[in-house]
Amino acid sequence: MKLCRFNDQRLGVVLGDEIADVTSVADALPAMRWPLPTTGDALIAALPKLRPAIERAASAAERVKLSAAKLLSPVANPTKIIGAPINYNDHIEESKKDQGIAHGREIKTIGDWGLFLKANSALVGASEGVALRFPQRRNDHEAELAVIIGERGSNIARADARRHIAGYAIGLDMTVRGPELPSFRKSIDSYAVLGPWLVTAEEIADPNAVDFECKVNGETRQKSNTRYLVYDVDRLIEYASSFYTLHPGDIIMTGTPAGVGPVKPGDTLTVDMAGIGHLSVAIRAA
Ligand code: MN
Repeated sequence: MKLCRFNDQRLGVVLGDEIADVTSVADALPAMRWPLPTTGDALIAALPKLRPAIERAASAAERVKLSAAKLLSPVANPTKIIGAPINYNDHIEESKKDQGIAHGREIKTIGDWGLFLKANSALVGASEGVALRFPQRRNDHEAELAVIIGERGSNIARADARRHIAGYAIGLDMTVRGPELPSFRKSIDSYAVLGPWLVTAEEIADPNAVDFECKVNGETRQKSNTRYLVYDVDRLIEYASSFYTLHPGDIIMTGTPAGVGPVKPGDTLTVDMAGIGHLSVAIRAA
């Protein structure tokens, strides 16, 4: 199932070139008041339970054209967005050669560096676009498979990792290059794109064998497969959860292959990912 959020906080199921509006199913979620729970996204947490109702509603729902919808981040309220640095060998090699990426840092391994967090306030959907706050600096695209956690877990064993996954999406870990810490440079508003929708886990037979391609204005910049991940999806879940509890809706951006490069206002960035779909994002000045 392809689940999206669209327009004015509507919930939808993507069916071909249309969206079935199943917002009414979200009425089953508890109404919330301060202090809000910090235990994850309420919809993603309830998804296994709500799924039959979503499927029933979708078959009878009002439809809107996908091309006319404003696509929001398919996850509304993650507790965190986790990033994986230097997680493809060809990106490690390009980072060593290019001081525009390395900025004097010694490029080691993901096992040395650990993971980083992107601010939740940076999260946007495909139709919201990316607003470059420092257009005079180098702003790079990083196309990545994004894993969305479904079931809470801490110290998750590699062998159990898959059952903690709700689904997948395309992630753009947008980055302003420079000497600052990654969590600062990668947390600018709109620098975490998730979309175009969430594909539920059972539709992707092996997340460690997913082809993807990123283009800027139609020109290929990145083309790879998640089989080249240094820490694969299962290991990333094990690694992340050895430091912090993963909650429903938490997003892991799994890392980017070689070919990262600058974008400028006016560019159109697209990512095609096998089994997930086509993401198209407009770049503008903030
Ligand atoms: Mn990245």
